[in-house]
Parts: sequence; C-alpha cells; structure tokens
Amino acid sequence: MPDTPLRFDDLDSLRRTVAAWRGAGERIVLVPTMGALHAGHLALVAHGRAIGRRVVVSIFVNPTQFGPTEDFSRYPRDTEADLARLAEAGADAAWLPSVATMYPDGFATRIEPGPAAGGLCGDVRPGHFSGVATVVTKLLNQVGPDIALFGEKDFQQLQVIRSVVRDLDIPAEIAGVPTLREPDGLALSSRNRYLTPDERARAPRLHATLAEIAEGLARGAAAHPLLAEGIAALEAAGFGPVQYLELRDARTLAPLARAEREARLLVAAYLGKTRLIDNVAVLPA
Ligand code: AMP
Repeated sequence: MPDTPLRFDDLDSLRRTVAAWRGAGERIVLVPTMGALHAGHLALVAHGRAIGRRVVVSIFVNPTQFGPTEDFSRYPRDTEADLARLAEAGADAAWLPSVATMYPDGFATRIEPGPAAGGLCGDVRPGHFSGVATVVTKLLNQVGPDIALFGEKDFQQLQVIRSVVRDLDIPAEIAGVPTLREPDGLALSSRNRYLTPDERARAPRLHATLAEIAEGLARGAAAHPLLAEGIAALEAAGFGPVQYLELRDARTLAPLARAEREARLLVAAYLGKTRLIDNVAVLPA
C-alpha cells in the first residue's frame, strides 16, 4: 500500500509542516486542483515529484470562479477517491480547505488580472479569472511553494497566473505541463464524465479540428477562413454553441491573423450540456 498523503484542513498545521520541510532544505511544489482527480492531474503530481522533494496538492472547488448559472453545486467531489489517487501518485500532502477557511466572514479582497484575462474564457465567463487569480494567490501565500504547476489544458488560466505572479512579485516559479489526452485525442477533464456515450464518441472532433487548423496555419495560411471552416465543422459534428475558436499569441494572448510567431489555437464549445475547452500550440509558419 502506498503511503496516503498527509491531510490538512487547518492552515496553521499545513504551514508548520511545510516550514519544517523547507527548514530541511527541501524544495516544495504546489499542484492546485479542484479535485475529481484524473490522470491529467496525476501527470502534474508526477512532474512535481520529478522536480521537487515535496509535492502539496490542494483540492478546493472554488465558488468564486463559477458563474451563477455554472456547475459549482454539481461539480464532482470525491475526497476519499482523490486521496487514494494521490497516494498512488506519491503526493506528500493534500491541502483541503473548507469554503469558510478560504473565505471567512468579512473576506473582501479580489485580484483583477490584466489583459491576459481579456477575451476567450474571460468574455464568456465574466469574473472567472478574477476568482481564479484570487484563489491561486491565496494558495501560493498559504503553501509558499518554490514552484507551482498548472496544466496547459487551461492555457489562458496559465498565462493569467503567470501575469499575476509577475505583477505582484509572488516568490514562486510558475510552470506549465502539457495536456494529457485520451488515445483518441480528447483532453482529460473532470467534466468529461458529464458526456453521454454519444457525446463521448463525438468529443475527439474538438482536438482533431484544432490539429487540422494548426497544420494549415503552420503552412502559412490566414487564420480567418480556417477558423470559420473549423466552427462549421464542429457544428456539423454536433457541437454548439462554439463560444470561441481563436488564434492568439502564445505569450501575450493578443489576437493573431496568421501564425507569424509562436501561437496558440484555443477553443471552447458546448457538446450537449457540457462545456469543453482545448488548445494546441501552432509553430510559426
Ligand atoms: P482543475 O481541477 O480542473 O482545476 O485542474 C487542476 C489542474 O490540472 C489545472 O492546472 C489544470 O490545467 C490541470 N489539468 C486538468 N486537466 C489536465 C490534462 N488533461 N492534462 C494536464 N493538466 C490538466
């Protein structure tokens, strides 16, 4: 039986343990999650173990990053299954704050991230990145890691967090980890469990469409016609609405008309009631 990770729901005890590790000269890695852990999350833990001595995984379904009509209350929660997976993956500690611990009475501060949070998910999920930036800032202050790991699956989130950490001089390195996919290309996500069997069969078209467009862009084609064709192809495959399908600068996330520098192709689309997002790198033509 692998060791279960130390389990903390009290900030002082977490801080005492992390301080002891730091005192022993150990490098600390934080992996923030919302639980319902799958192999994509565990890839982050594995990466953390490869680069640090101690891996702390936070599990917190953050109410402030969900909109009023989003899936906060039905978001999957299964702490015991998550802890068993973390034991298998070799995480050292699980930080499991309650909503009252994170947002006690009188809590009144919010981080407003800059331009990286504009457009894409920032437009269709108002307030989402402010909620993400605020909770991640708190987690970084609570744990005080040397490095925090985030999946490229949520590419805009990764760039927003990089900008917040840079702007606020938070002393942690932020690193991105490539998206883990099913063999048919579907990006692993806690929300994939909402898909019906028919939707699950259609879902890989999301990544396939991105890959086809990326190939055209890498040959130097203009983005606009390819993106319009891509939206039509997704709708024909049963997706809709397609909230966005856009080519952006990989670093600043500024819109691009063609892949003249390192770029990212990003999509968000509903499949039935489930909102899926994905993105791929596009090399300069
Ligand atoms: P979540 O629990 O959805 O907030 O995700 C927690 C972290 O895991 C985020 O940094 C995500 O980007 C990352 N993540 C989620 N799915 C994947 C995946 N398929 N591959 C790599 N990282 C992922």
